[in-house]
Amino acid sequence: MWPFKKKNPKNTSIGSNQPILFSQVDTTERFDDNVGLTSDDWIATIPLNTLIRDPELQGLPAVEADGDVVYQVATKLSRIRESIPIPNDGVYCPTCHIANVDIGKLGTPCPKCSKPLLKFGWD
Ligand SMILES: [Zn+2]
Repeated sequence: MWPFKKKNPKNTSIGSNQPILFSQVDTTERFDDNVGLTSDDWIATIPLNTLIRDPELQGLPAVEADGDVVYQVATKLSRIRESIPIPNDGVYCPTCHIANVDIGKLGTPCPKCSKPLLKFGWD
């Protein structure tokens, strides 16, 4: 038997410790939740900070943060998202947790609380 030297496997792991950067504070249950919706339809969204651990480390508001703080954080994130053209983006209200497919509603008052609607991605 030849004394084969084992090659060290290349380290192919990609930065698993990199924080995921969110550009919105809510999400929807499924990928294609926006399919089939019209600009008249509002769909319920779920606060991301209730779904992940340590939301503050990911730039999200704390679970116990009050509505104003959540809205402030969501506004900052929306500004970032608004600087990137993303097809199929819609709008949402991080206070009422509702979203709509019509990007034309961006900045218009939420039908429930009248705060300006923010940019929302469906995936
Ligand atoms: Zn609202």
